[in-house]
Amino acid sequence: MEFRKRKFIKILGASFLALLLPIKVIFAATKKVINPNLSKEQKNIMFNEGTERPFTSDLLKEKRKGFYHCANCGNKLFASTSKFDSGTGWPSFSEALPGAFKTKIDNSFGMVRVEYHCAKCGAHHGHVFNDGPKESGKRFCNNGLCLIFKPN
Ligand SMILES: [Zn+2]
Repeated sequence: MEFRKRKFIKILGASFLALLLPIKVIFAATKKVINPNLSKEQKNIMFNEGTERPFTSDLLKEKRKGFYHCANCGNKLFASTSKFDSGTGWPSFSEALPGAFKTKIDNSFGMVRVEYHCAKCGAHHGHVFNDGPKESGKRFCNNGLCLIFKPN
C-alpha cells in the first residue's frame, strides 16, 4: 500500500514536471537577443531582470516628440506624449502603445510587483505601478538602457 502510494506520488510529480517543462521552454524561446550590439549592462537588465542605477539615463532629459523603441528588437513601445517626470530617476510613462508589452507578477525582493517585457522579443523593461498622475493611473517605470528614442 505504502509502495503504491509512493509510486502514485512519483508519477504525479513527473507528470506535473512534464506539464511545466513546455511552458518554461516556450517562455525561454520567446526571450532572445536580437541586437548583437547590446552592452553587458543592457543584457543584464533585459535578460536577467536587472535594474540600472537611478538618475543615470540620458533619456530622463529627453523632451522631444517621437517614439521610444525596444533597444533589443526595435519594437515601438511608448509615445513621447505619455512620458512624464516621476522623480524616481527612471524614465516614466503613463501608458504603453497597444500590444507593446506582456506582464507577469514579480515576487522578488519581498515585494509583489508587475514586471513587463517586450511582447516581441521578451526582453525585460521595467515594472508598472498604479500610482501614475495621468488618466490611465499607470506608471511604467522603465530602464532607460532598454530604450532607444527616435525623434519625429
Ligand atoms: Zn523587444
